Amino acid sequence: MTVPLFPPITYGIGSMRAEPLDQGPRFVRTGGMSRWHRPRSGVLMPSNRTIYAVWCGQQVGGLHRAAGMLTAETIPDSLPVCATCDGRAVGAGQEQDGPAGRTLLYGPRGLTPPRFCPASRADLFDALPGGTTGRCLACQDTHPIRAMGGPYASRVGIVQHPPGARLFAPCPFHRWRHPRRQGDRLACICGRPLTASQ
Ligand SMILES: [Zn+2]
Ligand SMILES: [Zn+2]
Ligand SMILES: [Zn+2]
Repeated sequence: MTVPLFPPITYGIGSMRAEPLDQGPRFVRTGGMSRWHRPRSGVLMPSNRTIYAVWCGQQVGGLHRAAGMLTAETIPDSLPVCATCDGRAVGAGQEQDGPAGRTLLYGPRGLTPPRFCPASRADLFDALPGGTTGRCLACQDTHPIRAMGGPYASRVGIVQHPPGARLFAPCPFHRWRHPRRQGDRLACICGRPLTASQ
């Protein structure tokens, strides 16, 4: 059993050497994906590879990923289903209902702290006695400071590090992305003061 696919509408202009597919599998993912997606459209390339455009905007299949593409009518593992794909497929009438008994997963960007402290490699630190370490203005942890930027644009920055437990509470607009030094304090690029979370 397959599902009807929508036409592979493109807003570019050019020769389309691919053949549109009108039926496709219910779910697709590559081996590296953490959830299943729903195909919106699909094409068969001259090279005989199949590429699906899934509802959340990604492409699955094609040159580098074809070998790892998995398709399914019912999900054979315990992975969740992409909530964006599922909501759009049901809303557009391709599917009657979401997948029974499945977790829908959607992770909005910017809600969790970054992998590296935003002060990494910047001059956002207070130098400590001795001159080789600094206290990070963003997370309060102590790390080595180093010359960075090459011989012609040399500056001193604190080394790249994971955010410490006292990382500042994020700006509601710019999150952790744009801290700046303001006197001896830290402020967001928009001017909001940034202070340590508890
Ligand atoms: Zn998706
Ligand atoms: Zn830090
Ligand atoms: Zn801001």
